[in-house]
Amino acid sequence: MEDLEGENKRVVVIGGGVAGSLVAKTLQNFAHVVLIDSKEYFEITWASLRSMVEPSFAERSVINHAEYLPNTHVIVSTAIDITDNEVLTAQGCITAYDYLVVATGHKDTGALTKTEKLREYQAEHARIKSANSILIVGGGPTGVELAGEIAVDFPEKRVTLVHRGSRLLEFVGHRASRKALYWLTSRKVEVILGQSVDITTASDGVYLTSGGETITADCHFKCTGKPMGSSWLKETILENSLDSHGRLMVDANLRVKGHKNVFGIGDITDVPETKQGYLAERHALVVAKNLKLLIMGGQESGMAIYRPAPPMAIVSLGRRDAVAQIFCITISGRIPGMVKSKDLFVGKTRKQLGLKSNLG
Ligand SMILES: Cc1cc2nc3c(=O)[nH]c(=O)nc-3n(C[C@H](O)[C@H](O)[C@H](O)COP(=O)(O)OP(=O)(O)OC[C@H]3O[C@@H](n4cnc5c(N)ncnc54)[C@H](O)[C@@H]3O)c2cc1C
Repeated sequence: MEDLEGENKRVVVIGGGVAGSLVAKTLQNFAHVVLIDSKEYFEITWASLRSMVEPSFAERSVINHAEYLPNTHVIVSTAIDITDNEVLTAQGCITAYDYLVVATGHKDTGALTKTEKLREYQAEHARIKSANSILIVGGGPTGVELAGEIAVDFPEKRVTLVHRGSRLLEFVGHRASRKALYWLTSRKVEVILGQSVDITTASDGVYLTSGGETITADCHFKCTGKPMGSSWLKETILENSLDSHGRLMVDANLRVKGHKNVFGIGDITDVPETKQGYLAERHALVVAKNLKLLIMGGQESGMAIYRPAPPMAIVSLGRRDAVAQIFCITISGRIPGMVKSKDLFVGKTRKQLGLKSNLG
């Protein structure tokens, strides 16, 4: 333990995603930390599309919480209520807190254990391998990266990507969208913009778009985003701290508005910036610093301030290329690809959690 005073304070972190896992890891030798997550592992989300074409990739990017949190009490259950000093989980576990960090970015509805998650990737890989034609619904970063992975690893497959918006990657600038579109179409991915597909009405591999087009595909992948993990907060003491979009309103110190001992981090917050993992990590480090200060009895006025970041993104396109937007500059091809696309920051993220970048 770095400090024995902090050990008596109980910090409860709800959500073991990008932000929650890092704040727990940073504080675990400083205070009594409890992590409540609905699954037993942390997943490096930006490696998930590679794991669909190469399932063994997930062995490094799906990490049991126990591996990097030896000094944290991990509770695998879904939090369902928060009072002024306790958190209640779906399994009836009541955990007291002095400080609370809410980091429930997105709801995970899939696998609860690492073994199940690895099996899911093997099943997805088998679906891709056995299909001649694949439909991807959604042209945000997830859909574009998946199309890129399949186009590079399985160039013989016919891939169709349908996107409701008028351009791919709407969260970045028009140039980046055009470069991603050019890259995909030059690898024979058919991109249909301005239309949607209702997956539920598909029959016998025939899908109808909102524009009346017919697409035949042996399988499909829905890449339209996971639901936000904040609806449950409406039944808690934080109900009045949610904005009209269901985001948790936080102040400059990332403290939930109206609650002195509750912090909010990651995608769930109303911080005015794009919702990205590297920013969720920054939130986590600011809150860890602020909690250390408060636990040590420091002045609130000394807390670190979080400044929203300008837009920056790297979207990988297969194993070697990427398109990047850094402020107003857009670059595509091998140079941004060298930064992200080979290892997808898996080694770096593992090191940040105190693990070896490679297994074994
Ligand atoms: C496919 C994909 C690729 C991406 N690529 C990139 C990228 O290249 N670069 C980048 O910066 N960002 C990327 N992102 C975005 C990044 O993953 C998110 O910004 C980041 O995950 C947000 O972190 P978070 O901790 O706020 O939420 P999450 O990572 O969503 O974690 C939330 C956690 O809370 C848990 N949870 C939810 N509700 C409850 C509850 N009631 N009780 C207990 N636990 C709960 C969930 O199980 C989950 O573990 C990508 C996202 C996806 C999906």
